[in-house]
Amino acid sequence: MATAVYPGSFDPVTLGHEDIIKRSSRIMDKVIVGVLRNQSKSPLFSVEERVGMLTQVVEGLPNVEVRAFDGLLVDFVRQCRADVIIRGLRAITDFEYELQLSQTNRVIAPDVDTIFLTTNLKYSYLSSSIVKEIAMYHGDISAFLRPEIAQKIREKYFLCPRDMALPFNKNISQTPDSFPDDGFIYVRIAEY
Ligand code: ADP
Repeated sequence: MATAVYPGSFDPVTLGHEDIIKRSSRIMDKVIVGVLRNQSKSPLFSVEERVGMLTQVVEGLPNVEVRAFDGLLVDFVRQCRADVIIRGLRAITDFEYELQLSQTNRVIAPDVDTIFLTTNLKYSYLSSSIVKEIAMYHGDISAFLRPEIAQKIREKYFLCPRDMALPFNKNISQTPDSFPDDGFIYVRIAEY
């Protein structure tokens, strides 16, 4: 039985991730979506929230399950008794990093292979970080995520006078020129 792990941050899961999950579930006997707990960057959603959102997304896919993990990916793959890692490729910029990652994993775990699925053209530009950035400036994110997940992102930000927010978020001065600067900014609730 071919079991695959599809690892990532999924902060949060987008329609691009969902597309890769559905396509892998058709190719593999079993797919385990691995949600990375330890991250250098501070995630918008806790690992429990990310697992919860993914669990909703995979409802109706009987051969897919969602689990959190930390530590080495190949150790998690072995715990899952899987032999394949699935990764998505959007552009040449993904390729360099992904190639390095898969080759390193191959040295430490020669029995585990990585399979790359190229993105659906519809989602080739889409990443969780872009969606979060658009949400921060109150742009429309409805084309990128399930409606309930888009709503969860909006709930993580609140409108705050720029002067009050500045001491808490050093990125605030980087407001894109295209956004009107009316003295207000959307701030992550956890940062305020
Ligand atoms: P990571 O921090 O491990 O890159 P992500 O959640 O950003 O975690 O991505 C997990 C995997 O999903 C990666 O292989 C990434 O290339 C892939 N992925 C992300 N967005 C898309 C998309 N729009 N289309 C195809 N693959 C994607």
